[in-house]
Amino acid sequence: NYILDIMEFVDNSVDYRKGHHVIDNWKVIEEVIKKAGKRFKIINKPEIKEEEEIKDLTRRDPSEYQDPRPRPAVVTIMGHVDHGKTTLLDTLRNSSVVESEFGGITQHIGAFSVTVNNRDRITFLDTPGHAAFCSMRNRGAQCTDIVVLVVAADDGVMEQTIESINMAKQANVPIIVAINKIDKPIADIDRTKKMLLQHGLQIEDYGGDIQAVAISALKGTNIEMLMEAISLQAEIMDLKSDYSGPVEGVVIESTSDPYRGKLSTLLVQCGTLNKGAILVAGTSWCRVRVMFNDNGETIQKASPSTPVQVLGWKELPSAGDVTIQVPSEKKAAEIVDWRKKQELYEKMKEDQVVIDKKMEEHNEQYRKQLEEKRKLGYFKLRRKGPREKEYIDTDTGPKLCVVIKGDVDGSVEAILDVLETYENPKCKLDVVHYGVGPVTKNDVILAKTFNGIVYAFNTGILPDTKEEIKSQPVVIKNFNVIYKLIDDLKSEMGKLLPMLD
Ligand code: GDP
Repeated sequence: NYILDIMEFVDNSVDYRKGHHVIDNWKVIEEVIKKAGKRFKIINKPEIKEEEEIKDLTRRDPSEYQDPRPRPAVVTIMGHVDHGKTTLLDTLRNSSVVESEFGGITQHIGAFSVTVNNRDRITFLDTPGHAAFCSMRNRGAQCTDIVVLVVAADDGVMEQTIESINMAKQANVPIIVAINKIDKPIADIDRTKKMLLQHGLQIEDYGGDIQAVAISALKGTNIEMLMEAISLQAEIMDLKSDYSGPVEGVVIESTSDPYRGKLSTLLVQCGTLNKGAILVAGTSWCRVRVMFNDNGETIQKASPSTPVQVLGWKELPSAGDVTIQVPSEKKAAEIVDWRKKQELYEKMKEDQVVIDKKMEEHNEQYRKQLEEKRKLGYFKLRRKGPREKEYIDTDTGPKLCVVIKGDVDGSVEAILDVLETYENPKCKLDVVHYGVGPVTKNDVILAKTFNGIVYAFNTGILPDTKEEIKSQPVVIKNFNVIYKLIDDLKSEMGKLLPMLD
């Protein structure tokens, strides 16, 4: 706010006083702002006592795995709009519900598991489309092993098909193609395959190693085949994870349930999650109170590649937040606190960039104005009418800075008028600010910054200003006769001149 005040003050001075009073003060004002920035700790890094000890949480390296074992593949379904992603997810999910021995009701928790051949499990992330895939990746939470690219056999390769191919390639995630809608009479599987080939997907039929399965998501045709293809791909990839040690995972989605409270779906990636574990995700933490699987059943353990809904968060974590287990609630709270400070600091830095930019713009604009005015001989003018002499450049010489406050417009104007006509070739007078009303905190801050004096004419001091003076001693002089004020001002200027002069 202080910075804005000063900027406003500069603006006003430039417009109203036509640069008269602050014209030479730009540099000083820049200093003020820098000083203010420091004083109010605008850019200073928040003090973080535990910084040394905390060293933010990191995932463990696969070489550190204590109990590495195969884990299910995690699959994301991508493809062009209307090509059947949602339909395929529904078909897959339903096949899993039928299998569930509890016959539970499907819960949409952001991911679900399916068993293939009564053996392998596959986990599907059920937010279709690349928005989810991308946002997770951008946040450094890679959680997809395989992309199933859905391409409708009637449409063939479309814009978002190509986007999906590029994204998967960029992320180095293998693709399995599901050529969908083969039940449609106009479906053209061969044409679709050729199109894929043209876009750099080496389909098996054409000697490549990318599996393509022709399916009907709607009719459920060849769904088993697609799952087997995924299983095969997973086998080739030899996916493994650590089943022991601290849990690592990623938040798939978060919801606030009116009955159950703050819930988030976690994809466990490392370790085995148990009830009572303490997790940190982004800037929130939880002690796991209850865990639910994708059928809404309560579970006691969740191993790698298992999606699990967790209850017990203090605040809701965001999708894409990396989640890591910590040993104690104290540690969790410390880390969250530390991260929040970091976040605040980052935000402050961003704000500072905006302010710097604005300042720079101001500065530039001001310099131009200054130059224009110089050309017009403006500095030979005084407040009203022409002035005979140019200001002496006393940037290096003595200068008295004053803030003038008066009871009414007339008195302030009168004082300024006198000062205008007053010339002291040896000491420059700079009215850094003037106005009507009592002496405010801002007046004091300004005077302090410019090492100046506040002259008050027939006016008082605001109570909070008195407080301010305690911390920043500033001379405030009160007068009720104009010439006495002027005399004092002159003598103050005299005090600034070198003794020998
Ligand atoms: P998304 O936008 O990729 O999620 O596509 P949807 O799953 O919403 O499907 C778009 C439309 O295509 C819907 O009307 C589906 O019923 C239809 N559809 C999806 N799969 C098939 C399929 O295998 N055969 C036919 N005939 N229609 C399908």
